[in-house]
Amino acid sequence: MNSIELSKNIIKKARNIVLLTGAGVSTESGIKDFRSRSGIYTLAPEYILSIDYFYKHPREFYQFAVENLYHPEAAPNKGHDILAKWEKAGKVSSIVTQNIDGLHQKAGSQNVIEFHGTMKTASCQNCGKVYETEEMVLRMKKLDDFYVCNHCQTKQEKQRYIKPDVVLFGDTGEWFTVEGFNTIIDTIHQADCLLVLGTSLKVTPFSTFPQYRNVDVPLIIINQGDTPYDHAKNTYVINESIGKTLSIIDESI
Ligand SMILES: [Zn+2]
Repeated sequence: MNSIELSKNIIKKARNIVLLTGAGVSTESGIKDFRSRSGIYTLAPEYILSIDYFYKHPREFYQFAVENLYHPEAAPNKGHDILAKWEKAGKVSSIVTQNIDGLHQKAGSQNVIEFHGTMKTASCQNCGKVYETEEMVLRMKKLDDFYVCNHCQTKQEKQRYIKPDVVLFGDTGEWFTVEGFNTIIDTIHQADCLLVLGTSLKVTPFSTFPQYRNVDVPLIIINQGDTPYDHAKNTYVINESIGKTLSIIDESI
């Protein structure tokens, strides 16, 4: 049997699938990896999207982030829809995603851990007031210092900067804590199948997560490109479109 046939059988029986998802899940919704746009900028996107650059050049930072990371018009694709359906059916228990586009939730998935945060909102780094990114885009057009919170006061204006709720380079997110890690590791421990979609599993710490599955738990990887786990024991690799593959599996279960 090939990997798709074997995966059908595993997913058919599974009652506690945990997903690890990355950019490849959103490409079928027309969202490009921001790195693919790097050619038109003189600075590396990893530098522009760093905590350091944000505090030095907030307006330029926002311009880049809104242009490259914010996709309010994007709609969930077939892959997102099937995962949401499987969650409702009690087959999928959680999704741990690197994506910041909110498309899993838009499709109806409820148990989603946004490991790299979200581009939907931004927060004042002093008082914690949450701003919708939509509002930040409007503020950008109207105000010079749109990135400064006006609901609180501090001696230094920089302390009141409103930062998108994404994990920037050089930054730590809410899941980058001992508690956050333990929650994710516990979730993976309980899985009866680990399904990796659209990520090459090359960036730590996300790339370490498959190591925490129980030894007899199958790992299914659907990704266009190789991953460090492709030859691991009890692992099934499918180098095909995610939407197409999940549709084939969904029809058979
Ligand atoms: Zn504030």
